[in-house]
Amino acid sequence: MAEDWKTRTKLVHTGSRRSQYGEMAEAIFLTQGFVYDTAEQAEKRFQATEGDEFIYARYGNPTTRMFEERIAAIEGMEDAFATASGMAAVNGALMSICKAGDRIVAARALFGSCLYILENVLGRFGVEIVLVDGTDLDAWRQAVTPGTKAVFLESISNPTLEVIDIRAVSEIAHAAGALVIVDNVFATPIFSRVKDLGADVVIYSTTKHIDGQGRALGGVVCGTVDFIRGTLEGYMRHTGGAMSPFNAWIMLNGMATLDLRCRAMAETTWKIAQTLAGDTRLGRVIHPFLDSHPQQALAKSQMSEGGTMIAFELADKDTAFRFLNALRVIKMSNNLGDAKSIATHPATTTHQRLPDAQKAELGITPGLIRLSVGLEDADDLITDIRNALDVI
Ligand SMILES: *Cc1c(COP(=O)(O)O)cnc(C)c1O
Repeated sequence: MAEDWKTRTKLVHTGSRRSQYGEMAEAIFLTQGFVYDTAEQAEKRFQATEGDEFIYARYGNPTTRMFEERIAAIEGMEDAFATASGMAAVNGALMSICKAGDRIVAARALFGSCLYILENVLGRFGVEIVLVDGTDLDAWRQAVTPGTKAVFLESISNPTLEVIDIRAVSEIAHAAGALVIVDNVFATPIFSRVKDLGADVVIYSTTKHIDGQGRALGGVVCGTVDFIRGTLEGYMRHTGGAMSPFNAWIMLNGMATLDLRCRAMAETTWKIAQTLAGDTRLGRVIHPFLDSHPQQALAKSQMSEGGTMIAFELADKDTAFRFLNALRVIKMSNNLGDAKSIATHPATTTHQRLPDAQKAELGITPGLIRLSVGLEDADDLITDIRNALDVI
């Protein structure tokens, strides 16, 4: 039975739908509409679509549906809705549950656009937003008052790789009747099953590891059928945040190799982390599985591997820039989870707009470098980093 398959098998086969031609590869149904045989059939389909039935690609499409079924299967979730980007997924999950007067508690160390949705969008419509230090369970306990609508957090924060105790936060949230929404991009679907830790809704930017080759934007929200079809789908259908069939096809193909890629990348990441940890020219070296990580034990209890990201600290902005400019194999950019290794200077790019005090609070120092480790040979990457460190 398909439900008993292991992750790798699911990543290759789950959700596949074949047309009358029996094509081997997943087809791209590049169509926005669907033809009805009879007026009665059209009427019926508008009353309720079932299984293999579609009306309009903003509502759903066979290629997109294949992707949704595949990701839901590996998350162990009942259902999923594919979105145009990671942010469309975050926006949909939050906007579809809230009304004025509701309270949402979120971990402060958030992706910038997530913070914008909370404060500048939901805040504008009278939703009360409370931000806490995600690693401080007492802060969660105080903030999550009875009737809180939802808690929102990134399982591992960007860019300083703080780990949040999802099990503990979920217990606090559920006791107050709040929904637990987890943005699990950094931990990947391969290394963590946040549903088993208590998450009710799991979100991915599929732009990252799931595409894995830096080609297309996408996102997905996973949850119960009740949440996905009963709460989220209406909002997504009518506000137009659906994933394009072409991008769903790219994501489907990405998934076939997701497990292999994430494992290879994590292995190289660990090698680099250990090498950097022993380099006296560096300040902090951050990787969730290093002994020096304050939440190493928690990270190991929530993830099977430490992920594909590292952050480390150079003396100042000038040194960081000289290091970045000296890299030859590693590209400078701001994506992550790509086959190509990518170095980012968060303080002047992804987190540029944060006020200095907030940067300091989140540990985004002028010398901090974030590294997304790709599929290149580990030795070549280590040599590239060593050479760049020698230059500075
Ligand atoms: C990239 C990212 C997003 C946003 O995804 P897009 O596909 O760029 O819209 C949200 N959360 C996290 C943690 C991310 O890394």
